[in-house]
Amino acid sequence: MAVPEEAPLVAGIELGGTKCVVLLATGPDDIRAEARIATTTPQETLDAIEDRLREWRIKHRFQAIGVAGFGPLALDPRRPDYGCIVNTPKPGWDGTSLIQRALRFGVPVGLDTDVNAAALAEGRWGGAQGLQSWAYVTVGTGIGVGAIVEGRPIRGLGHAELGHLRVPRLKGRSWPGACPYHGDCVEGIASGPAIAIQAGFPAESLSRTDPVWDDVVHALTGCFHNLVLTTAPERILIGGGVGLGQPHLIPRIRKALAESLNGYAVAPRIAEDIEAFLAHPSLGNRAGPLGSIALALGSLATVEAAPILRSAQACA
Ligand code: ADP
Ligand code: ZN
Repeated sequence: MAVPEEAPLVAGIELGGTKCVVLLATGPDDIRAEARIATTTPQETLDAIEDRLREWRIKHRFQAIGVAGFGPLALDPRRPDYGCIVNTPKPGWDGTSLIQRALRFGVPVGLDTDVNAAALAEGRWGGAQGLQSWAYVTVGTGIGVGAIVEGRPIRGLGHAELGHLRVPRLKGRSWPGACPYHGDCVEGIASGPAIAIQAGFPAESLSRTDPVWDDVVHALTGCFHNLVLTTAPERILIGGGVGLGQPHLIPRIRKALAESLNGYAVAPRIAEDIEAFLAHPSLGNRAGPLGSIALALGSLATVEAAPILRSAQACA
């Protein structure tokens, strides 16, 4: 992919539950610097990220910063908690602002959830180019769905959290599920840790024929059935450790989704090319980190930077 000469150089931060990736780039084919930082306490982690950006800033005038964070995140720029992590079970992180330090650099700051950002990266450079509405789903430590409708992530009181939908259980199953908030929501059944608890050993060492995969396929199919009928995506891209590491899942979910939709509404259009409809992200496991670069570039293209700068206060 040729890099247009005028492509702005921006910085991106992907804040993950276990590690953070900091990037300096104009796009996937022009990454000038990259750093990995372990996610520990907010102070230590954010200090290390800020130090790295300051170091890069000496040589490179980056024009914006994108922050893609694990959530839930407060994303209403009219409210004082804009940019803060809210109601996370992750110890120490509740109420932490993910943007306050980024704003010190005096450039526009783009912010969104890690999955919305990954979805935007797929739209800009990957498997969702040219589409209006699509979704990026990570099936990993959690289940996150970045649902883009008419080019923008779903927004309201906060962001959508489709990984926590409740869907019908497979007949006869009564395992209570692993979500600390909802028990057997989709994440509570089909995330990596949920699979490990239910099976008794890590998802990566589970045989393909293990019946726990039936629960996983059923829960993800229920989630995608509802996703199709609410946001009408033209494509669903499935990444994350479990999503990318278990290639048998996508063919099974394609079949189950067709059965679940049962010919209704847009089902015939999905059936025309279900291989393309339900696929892996083209950027693979780079969709997440590149999402932060997509957010930075997006912030340059909007006028939202001004209210964001004014409203970034300390978190509650
Ligand atoms: P995160 O969600 O924290 O960003 P990952 O997307 O890598 O990280 O997901 C980690 C989860 O994926 C863990 O629960 C791990 O057990 C699971 N996992 C990693 N590789 C595989 C694999 N090949 N098959 C099944 N599960 C896997
Ligand atoms: Zn839940």
